[in-house]
Formats: sequence, C-alpha cells, structure tokens
Amino acid sequence: MKILLFGKNGQVGWELQRSLAPLGELIALDRHSVNGLCGDLSDLDALRAAIRQVKPDVVVNAAAYNAVDKAESESELADLINAQAVGVMAEEVRSLDAVLIHYSTDYVFSGRGDTPWRESDGASPLNQYGASKLAGEQAIVASGCKHLIFRTSWVYCTRGNNFAKTMLRLAKERETLNVIADQIGVPTGAELIADVTAHAIVKVNQHPELAGVYHLVAAGEVSWHGYASHVIGFAQNIGEQMRVTGIHPIDSAAYPTAARRPLNSRMSTQKLQENFNLRLPDWQSGVNRMLMEVFNK
Ligand code: NDP
Repeated sequence: MKILLFGKNGQVGWELQRSLAPLGELIALDRHSVNGLCGDLSDLDALRAAIRQVKPDVVVNAAAYNAVDKAESESELADLINAQAVGVMAEEVRSLDAVLIHYSTDYVFSGRGDTPWRESDGASPLNQYGASKLAGEQAIVASGCKHLIFRTSWVYCTRGNNFAKTMLRLAKERETLNVIADQIGVPTGAELIADVTAHAIVKVNQHPELAGVYHLVAAGEVSWHGYASHVIGFAQNIGEQMRVTGIHPIDSAAYPTAARRPLNSRMSTQKLQENFNLRLPDWQSGVNRMLMEVFNK
C-alpha cells in the first residue's frame, strides 16, 4: 500500500508518521517541496500534480489552517487550505479510486444543548474556521471519493505547545488562574487519533462500506477548567512545585475572543466504536501519559 501524508509535522501528522509507517510505503510531506513533490496546500495546481505523480492508494490529510481566531479575518486563506485544497485531494483520490483520510472538528456544530453530537446531526458552525472545515467535508462528500472523515476535538501532543503545557507554565508563574468552565469537550491525544487512523485504513480497505464520517475523541467529557485543574493537580501529585493556589472557573463571556466557540463540544463515538470494533480510552489516561512524558517521569 502506498500512502501519501500531508501535514507531517503537525500534532496529528507527527504521530501518523509513526502509526502509518508499518502499513506500507509512506511518503510524508510538510508544506515544503521534497523531490519535486509539493506539500503546500495553498498551491492547488502543485498539490494536484503531487498526487498525480505519487499515485497513492491512500491520501491522509493532517494539514489544516487551524488559527481559529485569525480565521475570522483570514477567511479566504482558511477556505483555501481547509476547503479548496481538500476538494482537490478528493477529486484526485476519486480518479485514482484511492481512499482519502481527513480530519475535521467539533467546531462544525453550533454548540447548543448538552447531549453528545452524532454524525447525523446537522452542522451549523459558529465561526469561520468551523465553516471552512465544514466546506472541506462537503467537498469530499460531493466528489464521491471513498473517504474517512474523523471529527475530533481539543487535540494535544507531547511535542510542541498545547493547552496543558500552557496551564502548567502559568501555574508556575501565577497565584491564580481564571479558566473557562462553560465549554465542555474532550481532550484527545494525537497518538490516539493516529493509532485509530491506522486501524481504520486497514479495515476500510477490507470493508469499503465502512467509509464515511466518524467522531473520534477520547471517552468522557470535561470543561477547560476541569482539564486545567486535572493537569495542575497531577503535576502537584508527582512533586512539581506550583505557585498557583486558586484555579477559578469563568464563563466564555468573561474571555472574549475573535471567534465564537461552541459550548457543547461533546461528540458520540458510538458509530466509530461499533463499526471499527474499537474501545476508546478515557481522556485522563492519554493526558496523564502525556504529562509523564513532559515531566520525563
Ligand atoms: P496542527 O496545527 O498541529 O498541524 C497542522 C499542520 O498543517 C501544521 O504542520 C502546518 O504546518 C500545516 N499546514 C498549515 N498550512 C499549510 C499549508 N498551506 N500547506 C501545508 N501544510 C500546512 O494541527 P493538528 O495536528 O492539531 O490538527 C490535525 C487535524 O485535526 C486538522 O484537520 C484540524 O483541523 C483537526 N482538529 C484539530 C483540533 C485541535 O485542537 N488542534 C481540534 C479539532 C480538529 P506549519 O507548521 O508549517 O504551519
């Protein structure tokens, strides 16, 4: 099997380089050109040419425009990377009769209510980033290519920056922290996403009828405030010195951002677990593992 991976150095892309390697020949690109292959999603012609040159059996797209607040003022760029480029991939995958693996987000939903979103629920994004990601999903479906779209949320990876590391840094610097408590979602490790992706690629090749949209998040739910409290408590329990004495819950309204965020980002993973015969671990186990790596314990 020949796999072409875009966005190899992002959180998910980094872990995919590991999890996809045993499946076959892996050609992994970042936004720069390698051996004449262009991995820059903003150059649609070069992107098309790269896929035509490689002729992969599977295209995995881990590249994305992810700057949620900036997307409010850069909606054309967000649309180019998250929708138009994805549409080009989908067209090429369709003509190769290959498979496209793509990632989307809880931000396609409005955030209303408090029940977990199902794949069949209507999307209604609150911000430009969410709208561009939804347009990418729609381009894939419209192309008629064989695909797996995994909607995930609150992604973290040991490598690079993430919310947990930011909270740990602030907890060492400040006595009090104010953290949003009315947005509920699930921290999901890039490792988990990458491992499930590898499993799903094998399975969808054997059972093409499994193609479609899936929610892929760890089990459980938490607010940003609960997540921060967990991370800081864990660090204190393993002996890390923290200056913080109070972690205060605040509402989203007290922390205005350029882009509106959904309050309810819960997503049901029942379809994924049943169709792919998987059991998704709770979010704490992945976060704790990441923290042990961060603290080198
Ligand atoms: P990252 O931001 O870690 O990685 C995105 C990658 O895309 C980066 O390596 C970036 O490269 C690359 N990229 C950006 N623009 C271009 C371009 N024009 N051409 C080529 N590559 C480009 O994202 P994640 O790994 O966290 O996200 C993976 C997927 O999951 C995405 O589809 C995202 O929308 C989705 N998702 C992520 C969430 C999160 O919390 N992070 C939540 C929900 C969904 P460079 O470093 O050079 O800019």
